[in-house]
Amino acid sequence: MDEKTVRDLLFQLKIPVQKHSYSGSKERTRWLNISCPFAPFTHQRGSDTNPSFGITINDAGKSNYKCLACGLKGRLSALPSRLGGYRKEDYSRIRHWAEMAELQATISKPVVDWENDHTHDEQTDEHRNSKPAHAAIKRYPRIVSLPYLRDRNIRWPTPLTLGLRFDSYQSRILFPCYDRHGAFAGFTGRSIRHPRTYSKKNPKVRDYLGLDKRKLFLRLPGRRSGPKIISEGLIDFAKIVQTGFPYAHAILGTALTPEKIDILIEEGDPVYFFMDNDLAGWQALFGVFNGDGELEVDNAWAFRLYREVPVWIVPYDTPLDGTDPGSLDEKTIRRMISNAWLFMGNPPLDDLMEPHLMLP
Ligand SMILES: [Zn+2]
Repeated sequence: MDEKTVRDLLFQLKIPVQKHSYSGSKERTRWLNISCPFAPFTHQRGSDTNPSFGITINDAGKSNYKCLACGLKGRLSALPSRLGGYRKEDYSRIRHWAEMAELQATISKPVVDWENDHTHDEQTDEHRNSKPAHAAIKRYPRIVSLPYLRDRNIRWPTPLTLGLRFDSYQSRILFPCYDRHGAFAGFTGRSIRHPRTYSKKNPKVRDYLGLDKRKLFLRLPGRRSGPKIISEGLIDFAKIVQTGFPYAHAILGTALTPEKIDILIEEGDPVYFFMDNDLAGWQALFGVFNGDGELEVDNAWAFRLYREVPVWIVPYDTPLDGTDPGSLDEKTIRRMISNAWLFMGNPPLDDLMEPHLMLP
């Protein structure tokens, strides 16, 4: 969490920040040090005249707290519950707020435009706010044929339909992303190098041109409406489009953001979630983890969507076997999407793939 969010949280918890100090450097971990809020309960003298309680400031991720006097420590987003326990107050709403803020910080990490990797911070910010010129798309050659895609049964003309490009410098397949008005918004690039070469410097998926993942789905350009088949990954997306569902969407990351939920609600189309068949896929939909590592479903913010538009979950034959839509054959994908419809108690529907839904 960034400092402003941390201070907002402290304010909500009625923790005064009268005396504070900072430690650490801007590049490394920074700490905001304040008087320990647990002092009345855990400190011998009942007060903390030093700023013994440190909170990590982390603009792009989780924050932790630790008291050097009484030794209490943990995730900052879990602080409301813990403090509420001592104070006999119900801070569950504040805790939910803190978890959301933490999630936001994690998924809204500044994205890297590799050309600007080593430029100064301010320049990157400026770049991120400027809209990428549509001409950027022409800088990269079209993908004509790529063994990587053939190995995954993505065949011609799907790369053309998706407008895939190639960055030979980084060996990445570039998927152009379009905003809700159909304007080009940047690329997300999938490395075709061996998975062993993936690292922080060479991640499997890297975004280009300041892609704002929080409010973007990967989808075909143009304003169409129809049942949206929502998956996680780029290859999943390609495979589902190839199977004949041009309204395929990929969530570009592992979590649905509140911004994306707003878009889905506003567009109002039925939604089919075709997530990876693993725990992470379902977590993205059904809940958040609490500080004890338990899944809490009662405050799953995604449930708002379920009340507003028809939502189907595409069921797998075997639970949690680790498969994803991209690894399935087209016949199976078609059957599973149709099953999702039946699964919810609807009559058989042959026209889920009406001719007008088919790709040209
Ligand atoms: Zn303490």
